[in-house]
Amino acid sequence: MFDLLVTNATLPDGRTGIDIGVSGGRIAACGAGIAAQAAASAEVIDAAGQLVTPPFVDAHFHMDAVLSYGLPRINESGTLLEGIALWGELKPTLVQDAIISRAMTYCDWAVANGLLAIRTHVDTCDPRLLAVEALLEVKRKVAPYLDLQLVAFPQDGILRYDPRADDPACTDTAFDLLKKALDLGVDVVGGIPHFEQTMQSGTESVRLLCEEAARRSLRVDMHCDETDDPMSRHIETLAFETRRLGLQGRVNGSHLTSMHSMDNYYVSKLIPLIAQAGVSAVANPLINITIQGRHDTYPKRRGMTRVPELLAAGITVAFGHDCVMDPWYGLGSGDMLEVAHMGLHVAQMTSRVAMKQCFDAVTAAPAAIMGLDGYGLEPGCRADFVLLQAAEPVEAIRLRAARLAVVRRGRVVATSEPRVSRLRLAGRPDAVRLTRQ
Ligand SMILES: [Zn+2]
Repeated sequence: MFDLLVTNATLPDGRTGIDIGVSGGRIAACGAGIAAQAAASAEVIDAAGQLVTPPFVDAHFHMDAVLSYGLPRINESGTLLEGIALWGELKPTLVQDAIISRAMTYCDWAVANGLLAIRTHVDTCDPRLLAVEALLEVKRKVAPYLDLQLVAFPQDGILRYDPRADDPACTDTAFDLLKKALDLGVDVVGGIPHFEQTMQSGTESVRLLCEEAARRSLRVDMHCDETDDPMSRHIETLAFETRRLGLQGRVNGSHLTSMHSMDNYYVSKLIPLIAQAGVSAVANPLINITIQGRHDTYPKRRGMTRVPELLAAGITVAFGHDCVMDPWYGLGSGDMLEVAHMGLHVAQMTSRVAMKQCFDAVTAAPAAIMGLDGYGLEPGCRADFVLLQAAEPVEAIRLRAARLAVVRRGRVVATSEPRVSRLRLAGRPDAVRLTRQ
């Protein structure tokens, strides 16, 4: 007797005709022929041969800025730097209730899209730590249905930002504020070395932040080299510090866009160093393709990091959403299949194997980067999964497939109607689903 039984599912690894039995919020059985042997289950979902996947995961997001598009004005140049300046204008006007309300709305969108785990950066360059407290509250509120992991992110640089600029009475340094955020319960140490004032202070910031993470046994996730400047090489330092401090497997480099513009010879040295250090990478295709290359005339660089080459070296690579309707990006809806779709195009990952890797980049890979416990469809895993209106992962990306059912801990938390259009054409079928079958 299961609490929930899913019949006739196709799994991301290609297995078909699979039944999934759920008991006590965990997967109790997963394989062929389980439904035939099972006694009556409390709830049954007929997958009808469609794809059941572990939930989507976003390993790089900014939930303190989400849905603030147009406040107080729109980013006209479209650059990272105008986005940071605009956020700086918005920050003093922020109130906690509004941050919480916008974040809660986005979490609703996420659940509707089968996105059940998000690592979000939260800006610590604020003497009030307003966004930190707001997102800690959001984390508590959504915990029953969404895993939120917070990264202490010093948006204006731990060595560059002086809190007295915002509050002359503040006696904390930017680094102190970041440590206070960690004391309050923020999970991961962030950083932004390429935004520090010099290459040297960027290097220094990586060292200080990695040492702090080692002291606290925390994970690290830095915005690293988010620039078209091929000389921005902080990922090299991040890999070095990871090995020096024994942080292998717990450190992630986000963006790494300068790698797009680096000299090939240097990259041939760099990628093995990243692999040896067990550092993972998150590219953010929607944002990288719109923010990078803004100083170019033509040809314009794509500005996304070298995803196929990193994967070939055995490095875990995820695709993140990064922004939804905020000072940096005016679009987005929390749909990780849209992220995978863009990543596939920008990286030209068009082989069958590479397209499947793009699906993994918004599911299994970010789950590994976040260190999610019990992620997957094997017996014993948490009963979190999504039924898609697609036959397999590549079709899911192609169609940004409808999420027919989203299950969290064995309970259906969201449903969508199948996408069907009705034709009124003589001699042609009356229903069109855009799927192959
Ligand atoms: Zn970011």
